[in-house]
Amino acid sequence: MQCKQFKKCGACRFQSDEYEKQLAYKQNGLNNLLSEFSKVERIIPMENPFNYRNKVQCAFYFDYRKQKCSSGVYQSTSKRIIPIDYCMLDDKGADDIIISIRKLADDFKLRPYDIKNKSGFLRHVLIRKGFKTGETMVVIVTASPVFPSRNNFVKALLKRHSEITTIIHNVNPTDTNLILGEQSHILYGKGYIEDILCSCTFRISPASFYQVNPVQTEKLYNMAIEFAEIQKDDAVFDAYCGTGTIGIIAAKKAGQVLGVELNEKAVNDAVSNAKKNDIKNIYFIEADATKLIDDLAKEKEHFDVVFMDPPRAGASREFLLSLLKLKPKKIIYISCNPKTLARDLKILTKKDYTAEKIQGVDMFPFTEHIETVVSLKRKD
Ligand code: SAH
Repeated sequence: MQCKQFKKCGACRFQSDEYEKQLAYKQNGLNNLLSEFSKVERIIPMENPFNYRNKVQCAFYFDYRKQKCSSGVYQSTSKRIIPIDYCMLDDKGADDIIISIRKLADDFKLRPYDIKNKSGFLRHVLIRKGFKTGETMVVIVTASPVFPSRNNFVKALLKRHSEITTIIHNVNPTDTNLILGEQSHILYGKGYIEDILCSCTFRISPASFYQVNPVQTEKLYNMAIEFAEIQKDDAVFDAYCGTGTIGIIAAKKAGQVLGVELNEKAVNDAVSNAKKNDIKNIYFIEADATKLIDDLAKEKEHFDVVFMDPPRAGASREFLLSLLKLKPKKIIYISCNPKTLARDLKILTKKDYTAEKIQGVDMFPFTEHIETVVSLKRKD
């Protein structure tokens, strides 16, 4: 299969390659970077590697040739919008909703925003879907707060797509790369969706972090929990916990869990997720993970298992040195960047820990990205 926008869009690294070939390429990359630490297991593939994205966003523009509203994605290297109707990675239902919004924008004479002239109204749409619950969120991002024929527009959209469970109007008047602005109003439904992962329910707000491929995320989290071999009285630390997903799943098996996360909104979601799942043995702290782990190590706090799931840049050297002082029995490192993972593993395995298992999970077929879980055990 070949997407006609493959070269222009830049999100996919592979297109004409068979899925098996992509996996071989990624496996080779992991082996080269990580086999010095332990055997690298075979990457867990995706059974059906298409339409896996539960989060889809687009930018609108006015197509002067066809005299109508059109949409696409920003080219990874420029500010140009590349026209897209259907992307083979997106949830198909989400792409259908975008096409309907384009049509309705013409019907309601809502002019797409023009970034050069700073004129027009409709900027972006963000769609998030709970694959297990079927709940669907549509966030309509506009340049100004006054939404002409707002109620009729919402009615018409719901008439075409009864699967939509919530619609949010977000206003973004600024000239940034960010899709969402500060100001949001709920136009329909509860303003967030819920999804289920590993039998726990999670709330997803317009801006909260949630893995984009839920089918593979479940495999990744199950693997991480299995590697951790949590005992019922264990104290667990979930560093870079986001909305609390891994910690909440771990809390069902553990004595106590402490989660740390920098983003205030994610921490709020984490607290409400713990409540929703009736998990009482988890606590969250809004802080820089490096600062918090340094305090924990100084206070000689005890943890049996540490999960760490940092952003692409990996963990700071100070974080890793404090982690070594904390001396957990097990460290489970979840990484979306094998290069920084290899750098960090060098520090952790220098003296005190051995890497037991290294497992790649293909969360992002057709792109160059790969997720990896590593379990490290303290040498006694
Ligand atoms: N474990 C979660 C989130 C992983 S994404 C999940 O699986 O869903 C990484 C998270 O680290 C993000 O939520 C980001 O806000 C957070 N983060 C980034 N830098 C941080 C820091 N210095 N201290 C604490 N959290 C940080």
